Amino acid sequence: QDIHVLLICGGGGSEHDVSLRTADFIQGELAGAPGIRLTRVTMDDSGRFLDSNGQVQELRSDKLLYSATGSAQPVDYVVPSIHGYPGETGDLQSQLEILGLPYFGCGPEASKICFNKITTKLWLTALGIDNTPYQFLCTNTAEESAKARDALAKWGTLFVKASNQGSSVGCYRVSDEEELEKALQEAFTLSSYVLVEKCLKVRELEVAAYTYEGELVVTPPGEVCAPEDTFYSYEEKYAEGSRAQTHVVAQGLSEAQLGWIAEASKRAFVGLQLKDLSRIDFFLTDEGEIYLNEVNTFPGMTSISMFPKMLQNQGHDFCAYLSALIRSAVR
Ligand code: ADP
Ligand code: MG
Ligand code: MG
Repeated sequence: QDIHVLLICGGGGSEHDVSLRTADFIQGELAGAPGIRLTRVTMDDSGRFLDSNGQVQELRSDKLLYSATGSAQPVDYVVPSIHGYPGETGDLQSQLEILGLPYFGCGPEASKICFNKITTKLWLTALGIDNTPYQFLCTNTAEESAKARDALAKWGTLFVKASNQGSSVGCYRVSDEEELEKALQEAFTLSSYVLVEKCLKVRELEVAAYTYEGELVVTPPGEVCAPEDTFYSYEEKYAEGSRAQTHVVAQGLSEAQLGWIAEASKRAFVGLQLKDLSRIDFFLTDEGEIYLNEVNTFPGMTSISMFPKMLQNQGHDFCAYLSALIRSAVR
């Protein structure tokens, strides 16, 4: 009997479209996996699952997937292929926990903590892992934006970030008060709290941390290089004609830097109780300081993304990796 995997993509958040591209990748990889059968549904804005014909499919508490015609089939495993809300935020994972269905990736709590840029920093600090200097703005009020203006005066250039977005949505680089004001207004429309960070002149390093045959694997860092005139924005991540360059293995790092990054990645994976996969991103400043920027519990897996490339570079085939996780969870 084949294992029936439900691949859920889309979702009502700002990263809906990127989630479809990750789902294309996962679907392509699992297509050749013996003994695994896959049904793909796209979650719409109201949380309904639609199949490729636009028909509603419903996953009920009996763990059966009901089609519009009334037929039903058991689901053995779920792959939540959603970036941002509600799949990277832990909300969908909570539902799967309630249903008692095994699924790919981090649990609800780790997802929630890591998706929120404020709670991530609080946890990283609690774990003793250096992270970028920041100022927290809890409301969109004059008192709070005064704090951001002070930060601008102190730090020169700032990054303004909506606390619960990814793919650089709600992330702005600002250098004067006018830009700051505009960015804050936009960020607060996306999130009810916002942070501003010191803009660092950095190299951006990314590590894939994942479990393979029961062991935690931490890859050496890769590097993304955004064009000089911008940062690693949504366009540079995904748009046609992106000028960002990626290197599966970053060059020129010292043994001490590599060791620090590997150690911090392990501590973050274990300390935050991550499961199955993550991509952990670091900044290396011109002064040689290293900060952990963020932990992505469900990194992008489009054709140009780092996570699958880093696995491959490790000699780990994605299909073998995911199908082994599926088989062991279902067994
Ligand atoms: P997201 O979760 O949307 O990817 P990030 O915090 O990773 O948010 O920020 C997106 C991008 O913005 C980063 O990849 C980097 O290019 C740039 N960036 C963010 N914060 C800083 C910072 N403090 N200094 C310099 N660049 C930054
Ligand atoms: Mg992110
Ligand atoms: Mg990022």
